[in-house]
Amino acid sequence: MSTLAPARVLVVDDDEMLRVLTRAALENAGFTVAEAADGGRLIEAFTAVHPDIVLLDVLMPGMDGFEACALLRASAGGAHLPVLMMTGLDDVESINRAYQAGATDFVTKPINFDLLGHRLRYMLRAKNTADALRASEARLALAQRIARLGHWEADARGRFAPWTVETREVLGLPAGVDVIDVAALTQFVVEDDRDRLRDAFGPGMRNGKSFSLELRVCAAGDAERNIHVVAVAEHDADGAPRYVGTVQDVSERRRAEQQIHQLAYYDGVTGLPNRQSVRARLVQALASAAHRQRPLAVLSIDLDHFQRINDTLGFAVGNELLRAVGERLCATVRVSDPIARLTDCTWEDAVGRAAGDEFIAVLANVGSAEDAALFARRLRTTLGQPFEIAGQEMYVRVSIGISVYPDDGVGADDLLKHADAALAQAKREGRDCYQFYTSALNVRAFKRLTVEMHLRRALEREQFEVHFQPKVRGSDLRPVGFEALVRWNHPDLGRVSPAEFIPVAEETGLVVPLGEWVLGSACRQLASWDAAGVGRFVCAVNLSAAQFRARNLHRCLADVVAAAGLEAGRIELELTEGVIMEDGEAAIRTLNELKAHGFRIAVDDFGTGYSSLSYLKRLPIDVLKIDQSFVRELAREEDAAIVSTIISMARSLRLKVVAEGVEESTQLAFLRAQGCDELQGYLLSPPLPALAIEAWLERQNALALAC
Ligand code: C2E
Ligand code: MG
Ligand code: MG
Repeated sequence: MSTLAPARVLVVDDDEMLRVLTRAALENAGFTVAEAADGGRLIEAFTAVHPDIVLLDVLMPGMDGFEACALLRASAGGAHLPVLMMTGLDDVESINRAYQAGATDFVTKPINFDLLGHRLRYMLRAKNTADALRASEARLALAQRIARLGHWEADARGRFAPWTVETREVLGLPAGVDVIDVAALTQFVVEDDRDRLRDAFGPGMRNGKSFSLELRVCAAGDAERNIHVVAVAEHDADGAPRYVGTVQDVSERRRAEQQIHQLAYYDGVTGLPNRQSVRARLVQALASAAHRQRPLAVLSIDLDHFQRINDTLGFAVGNELLRAVGERLCATVRVSDPIARLTDCTWEDAVGRAAGDEFIAVLANVGSAEDAALFARRLRTTLGQPFEIAGQEMYVRVSIGISVYPDDGVGADDLLKHADAALAQAKREGRDCYQFYTSALNVRAFKRLTVEMHLRRALEREQFEVHFQPKVRGSDLRPVGFEALVRWNHPDLGRVSPAEFIPVAEETGLVVPLGEWVLGSACRQLASWDAAGVGRFVCAVNLSAAQFRARNLHRCLADVVAAAGLEAGRIELELTEGVIMEDGEAAIRTLNELKAHGFRIAVDDFGTGYSSLSYLKRLPIDVLKIDQSFVRELAREEDAAIVSTIISMARSLRLKVVAEGVEESTQLAFLRAQGCDELQGYLLSPPLPALAIEAWLERQNALALAC
């Protein structure tokens, strides 16, 4: 009923006089009034008028008030309408029948018209309150249905009754059962959880404590569901203990939580624990290792050149391979049991995927570091077997870094960090190997950081310089060219060796601008020597892996050379065997592009990689530079044999051979005797600044004239 519009009263009475009097009284009291002359017209008037309240006479010809009231209650919208019945004074029988027929209240005739308005208003207020309560109950019921939240009560003997529809549905109780005891209720709960239910309602009921618990229920033919029960201890009106409570289906929430857990702690591709959860397990394993005073090993495992697979075959194949590697890794840990088994953990717990192509294994129960090495070797063998992915045979090589508790650290983070440092070392050592952590690596890592920090500023501050190391012809020892070698003079760090900063420059990408600067300096120097008539020399310039992979390398280099007014043919680009091999077909393409500009190509440190002769033949190269290590060990028969083979092989491939690192005259003599085309090394000259080179050249000329 609106508070603004006056309430509508429908007066049903056969006595016209009474209707007139009632209308006058009620209109006077602020109501609007509609009338019906007998019970048979009640429903018709009710639908036409929509009264807020009905004043109904009992005795009427035709349909009496009782029958009319019962009809009203059964009709749509009539169930809760306030009905005030007018009965004869002290007619107890009529009063009883009126209530039975659904009357809300009664008044006795003769009617006190002064009070009637108040009476009706009171009834309307009560009806409004009841309506609000019903609406609120309906909302609550709806909310409970949506939340799958049921309500129940239980007495001191553990008998459950009553309960709501939701309780029945959530627990899967059969329809028609209205009371159930704990023993019967346990049948609906999965076997493992039954004791908890009995414990909760048994002693729990006796000591009258409130509690909550989570159980799994499984109705016949239904999936298992998680339910959450909350029970509040109370006393009933007689003081007897009882429980009232709720039961809620929380299966969805649990599933979502499990999913979140899976996402947070497991890797989506391999299903293995992620770095964070391996770390958590490592913490546990360390506590146990400390307690048992046993060593423990952490292995950081990285797939070599995985990126290439991703790039060439796509992510789907890459992921497939990662999964297969994960499985083999787990299997290897499993067969290595009991080395690998973590206390209180299954073997799977020992393996995780850290990121990208990096895995971690935690080996508890290792007797010594040697066990970890054994495992690493076994793992390399297992992963070395071909994988069959998407109908293709694939080979995987891994680099492994190992740190051992307690020697390399006692905390999880230190051990993980040190295993990573050892892994980085394994990669530097040429990959496909394992490496233990040593504290020297830490010092190295620190130095690396310092170098990186300073390196960024060094280019702007012009702290670099190019030195030139002469190369002489094998036949007459006349200078033919130089190798440009970069030097870094840092005000605090002093002279930093390229062997130290070039790898850092590579990782940070700085090697690209640095390399261009070196090439530019070398070109300008050559041009200036040309102009000054010092001589027309060829200069070798080193290219690092990152430079080699840089986009448009050939154009950048050609521009730099052209800017100095030089032809590309005066520059020999030195690339190590490893760099060329690593890039496979892409390398051949890049080399061809460089060749097309006229650059000469040299394979640096030759003999340390694994280039096959057939592969070499496909490369557009001009020069092989025998690695210093063979020259240094020329006194050894095998090395001498290797050097002679390289020289004769180069000859058959029509490649020029350069020997670097010539320090002794016996080495020089041997190399010349073998017909090595060019020689480079401290014996002839160390790398020198340009000015010193000019002086050196003058000395050489003087020597030649003297001979
Ligand atoms: P590399 O290209 O193999 O250069 C030869 C290295 O051997 C140079 O070391 C040179 O000083 C050294 N050397 C020359 N003769 C002898 C000798 O008779 N005995 C011994 N023991 N060593 C000799 P450096 O200048 O320290 O350079 C080391 C490496 O750093 C180079 O090896 C090269 O890979 C890299 N590097 C140097 N300059 C550059 C550059 O401008 N760009 C790039 N990308 N790498 C460079
Ligand atoms: Mg070189
Ligand atoms: Mg070299």
